Amino acid sequence: MTSSVYMDNHATTPTDPRVVDVMLPYFTEKFGNPASRQHKYGWVAESAVENARNSVARILRVDSKEVIFTSGATESNNLAIKGIAEAYSSKGKQIITCATEHKSVLDVCKHLEKFGYKVTYLPVNEFGLIDLNVLEQAIIKETILVSIMIANNEIGTLQDVEKIGMICAKKDVIFHTDATQAVGKIPVDIESAKIDLLSFSGHKIYGPKGVGALVVRNRNKKLKLISQIDGGGHERGLRSGTLNVPAIIGLAKALELCNDSMDEEQKRLSLLRDKMQNAFLTELDEVYLNGHPTQRLPNNLNISFMYVEDNTLMMSIKEIAVSSGSACSTAQPQPSHVLKALGLNEERRHSAIRFGLGRFNTEEEVDYVIDRVIQAVKSLREFSPVYKKRVATKQTVSELQHPK
Ligand code: PMP
Repeated sequence: MTSSVYMDNHATTPTDPRVVDVMLPYFTEKFGNPASRQHKYGWVAESAVENARNSVARILRVDSKEVIFTSGATESNNLAIKGIAEAYSSKGKQIITCATEHKSVLDVCKHLEKFGYKVTYLPVNEFGLIDLNVLEQAIIKETILVSIMIANNEIGTLQDVEKIGMICAKKDVIFHTDATQAVGKIPVDIESAKIDLLSFSGHKIYGPKGVGALVVRNRNKKLKLISQIDGGGHERGLRSGTLNVPAIIGLAKALELCNDSMDEEQKRLSLLRDKMQNAFLTELDEVYLNGHPTQRLPNNLNISFMYVEDNTLMMSIKEIAVSSGSACSTAQPQPSHVLKALGLNEERRHSAIRFGLGRFNTEEEVDYVIDRVIQAVKSLREFSPVYKKRVATKQTVSELQHPK
């Protein structure tokens, strides 16, 4: 068995060597600036970027003019939400999002609140789904934007984006989706979900870090969007700054590889994920799945091992990289706002571990993780007086904590 296992693929993925290969020449012999229109170094770089843009657009089935390269999903989310807020402020100042969004959406909304925008944070049910009727009722005359993610980065729950898009189109409201965990992993149909703006990132799809894109549709209506980074007018004036050519080439290649192997990868990872889930649920008692049991990403498993604190468990399986809550969403670890929004009690939130399977995980690794985690949970529970008492008295944890 290898000395370490990486199973935190929602935080980031290793760059696929095939992606690295196509990027390398753009650091050395093809180093030109695509904005240098006067010589061949610039032309070579520009044509490579345009090929990458065409490839991304073809895979996502949008027009290449609708693809804006950014530094990643955080920037894409900022551009989409702030850009729409600024452009449509004369129409209204209400934005609708959801309590379980990534911080790069929630913090942008919080920022806009300081400037007089009203934000509705839709609640979710115990599985992480919004109520579509509540969404519909929340849309008012002043609503300028609905921003709801496709796949949640902690629990993997998939929102019903087709229905959300239908509601937004019916009410004539712009629909943005953070598709960072979905693109490249599951089919995303921008056209049929009536998505106006879509964010995604390179490093979640076996591409490089520091690159992503915002798709800005001009399907029925010409969207107005105010740039958030000015200076030079790159990317159709929506995102100035010299393009990160090697990273853009890598992003396009990464998306192409994901697209080519999506069916096969989805099947393989969901089988491995189910194997882990079944082993934990059958070999251990008081283990709970967090998120939706079926409507979820194929590579996600978020599970609470009651009576075992998440960080303690991670320390005892140090050679296995997993995460508690959502390590990737904040620079400072914070308790998970997602698990809280599901209404989970504190014990369940503090014993939750997120396993994120990826392209390079093998069945051997999965078997190893199953054995190690089960063994660690069992031995840590030996030190838990609450667990021991529960076993002895056959009481549930809440009966023990709130004796009658
Ligand atoms: N949205 C979601 C759902 C994410 O999982 C992440 C990364 N954790 C981001 C946005 C931010 O992406 P990036 O790292 O490219 O800024």
